[in-house]
Amino acid sequence: MTVKEIFETMEYGPAPEDDGPAQAWLDRHGRRFGVFIGGTFQAPGKTFATRNPARGTELAQVTQGTEADIEAAVTAARRAQPAWARLGGQGWARVLYAIARLLQKHSRLFAVLETLDNGKPIRESRDIDIPLAQRHFYYHAGMAALMEDELPDRVPVGVCGQIVPWNFPLLMLAWKIAPALAMGNTVVLKPAEWTPLTALLFAEICGEAGVPPGVVNIVTGDGATGAALVSHPGVDKIAFTGSTDVGREIRRATAGTGKALTLELGGKSPYVVFEDADLDSAVEGLVDAIWFNQGQVCCAGSRLLVQEGIAEAFYAKLRARMATLRIGDPLDKCIDVGAMVDPAHCAKVAEMVAGSNGEVHQPGTVPAEGAFYPPTLITGLEPADPLMRDEIFGPVLVATTFRTPAEAVEVANATRYGLAATLWSENINRALDIAPKLAAGVVWVNATNLFDAAAGFGGVRESGFGREGGWEGLRAYTKQAAPPKALVPVAAIPAPAAPKPGGLDRTAKMYIGGKQARPDSGYSRPVWSPKGVLLGHAPEGSRKDIRNAVEAATGAASWGRTTGHLRAQILYYVAENLSARTEEFATRIAEMTGSRVPRAEAEVSAAIDRLFTYAAWADKYDGAVKPVPIRGVALAMPEPVGVIGAFAPDDAPLLGAVSILGAALAMGNRLVLVPSEPFPLAATDLYQVLDTSDVPAGVVNIVTGAHEALAKPLASHLGVDAVWSFSGADISTTIEAEAAGNLKRTWVNHGRARDWMQVDARSFLAQATETKTIWVPYGA
Ligand code: NDP
Repeated sequence: MTVKEIFETMEYGPAPEDDGPAQAWLDRHGRRFGVFIGGTFQAPGKTFATRNPARGTELAQVTQGTEADIEAAVTAARRAQPAWARLGGQGWARVLYAIARLLQKHSRLFAVLETLDNGKPIRESRDIDIPLAQRHFYYHAGMAALMEDELPDRVPVGVCGQIVPWNFPLLMLAWKIAPALAMGNTVVLKPAEWTPLTALLFAEICGEAGVPPGVVNIVTGDGATGAALVSHPGVDKIAFTGSTDVGREIRRATAGTGKALTLELGGKSPYVVFEDADLDSAVEGLVDAIWFNQGQVCCAGSRLLVQEGIAEAFYAKLRARMATLRIGDPLDKCIDVGAMVDPAHCAKVAEMVAGSNGEVHQPGTVPAEGAFYPPTLITGLEPADPLMRDEIFGPVLVATTFRTPAEAVEVANATRYGLAATLWSENINRALDIAPKLAAGVVWVNATNLFDAAAGFGGVRESGFGREGGWEGLRAYTKQAAPPKALVPVAAIPAPAAPKPGGLDRTAKMYIGGKQARPDSGYSRPVWSPKGVLLGHAPEGSRKDIRNAVEAATGAASWGRTTGHLRAQILYYVAENLSARTEEFATRIAEMTGSRVPRAEAEVSAAIDRLFTYAAWADKYDGAVKPVPIRGVALAMPEPVGVIGAFAPDDAPLLGAVSILGAALAMGNRLVLVPSEPFPLAATDLYQVLDTSDVPAGVVNIVTGAHEALAKPLASHLGVDAVWSFSGADISTTIEAEAAGNLKRTWVNHGRARDWMQVDARSFLAQATETKTIWVPYGA
């Protein structure tokens, strides 16, 4: 090409990055890697090839980690953990800082190796992946230094099993390892089969950074290696990033084991463009939203929603911009779109698009060799089309239109996922009105795909649970300092051989949608006092009662939009009305449980205090403004979880129920409460208190019955967003396993006791909220 021609076309010339140093590093290792355990690379075992997807060439042979490797890695991590924990915050900070420095020093090597292994453009690995990974280690070096002062009652979880996908191999490693080490944990990490190389380079620099042997262990391999890590009994926590299907399997596999679990899963994130948006900026944002990393991004803005009036104009601009995207060798610094991670994945995306019923637009040509797929826009699809609903995980944008803001919200939220959402509008009122209405863990206003270590990232619904980044991510790598005691189950009082005459028969009902309701089963069970007096009957709840209660709770969604001030007033009112009936409740508890009246009075008094505490918190559990390094801020907004199903404890039948109710309602949730199984009447007596305290119908629903029988219907119900259990019955495993259906959050006791007189309000409030991170432009 002549200079004149270049001036005429303004085409970029090639600007290839030298991959020599990365190839030399591979050569130094003989292009064969063993697993990294206890601070050293082991001799390679059975290996598989990892390839450059842009050229199809083999880069190295990597070991397929076996169960024995996982065993050795977990043992090394366990052995190293106490000494690492003793090092303390300042000690961890120094090591994390050293890692960050070394990542910076070797950043080009990491970037080139990442691009070779994954196929992503060097521009992205060099300017985004590696700098963000460094930032994560710097940030968490700071967290480690602050941890002892800021989280004095928390200690490390122990050994963390961490599993990451192939789309951001080093960045996902950083998201996992930095917070774990910053809180005194040790780790066993399994990189993705297609992209293990930067994790192995990271292992190498761990020694240089002074990471003690056994603190970081890297076991390469496929899904079977991951499954072995998940099921290893020596692992205290699993942190997983990957597909929703595998996340669901992991939820089931860890059910009942007591392992802590965080899941960052897939998405089908909406990208909403209002007619008052800056269309050129929105088009540029869309390039980042869906063609960054070839669309292989969990939070990719893969579902475009454009307001009808501007749709054609917007599509025209988008098509014009698509025509200028440069596709090709990812090591070329001018390239916008590189190779897909693997030919198999590329073929899967191609197959999905080939079956499309819409209008497919694919400008430009892709290189003949290598796993390349062109940027794609599909319009004209029905809302129910699989391509509109399912994650494609490639450079494929599906588009539809909407007419009103309300319709935009409805269409945006019509998905089983809830990872991220983007909205574009020059109208600040509109943007700030819509952001809270989007069901997503992260919302970007007039920007997209912004990430930072200080800002929590994670999803709701089937996009998983837990946050990575910020204080919210950090807490997930800690546990409470004092281990809880084992729960002593409380049995119901059996029917006496010779019942004593009681007063009038009092058969309680359920409380559903603000009304008392008979059980669907038509059965109830007697509640006896230890003295042999029949105190009343409690209904035997069933699946249908749970269904009705969840429906009522679903219908009361407006509770989540009330102000904290209003919710506080109502909780104070409940407390006031309970206080007026202290004697009646204390007598009831004493009769049911056989405890002495002063003790029962103390429980009622504590229940009133608890309501006051949560009323106080209702407008004080505030969010945060995260100082992210952009021209903007990230707001961390606590939002209600939604519908919470909860099993109350037996050892404090009123106080336990009220503690759950207070926390859930204070944060704007609706509740389906199953009271203590042996002592249900303390909760059924609450109906009148609730009726006279302005609690709206459907916000609290109470279904009595056998916990074992109700655990499955409540935990598997798709309308329930979280399940808590403080039950004396052994239902933790059932709840965790059944919750896998819609990946709802769970908080269960695993047979551990709790002192209900001393409840840590903050842990309840954290369970009663989801943190939504909203990125907004702000300042200069
Ligand atoms: P997978 O879920 O298939 O794999 C993720 C990781 O889990 C890999 O290391 C994989 O090993 C391993 N794995 C596979 N099966 C099992 C198992 N049964 N038990 C334990 N580990 C297992 O996802 P992909 O690697 O295909 O990544 C793409 C998916 O990840 C997308 O759906 C995307 O949305 C999601 N993702 C989510 C992110 C988030 O933050 N929410 C971020 C990035 C991706 P192997 O590589 O051998 O298959």
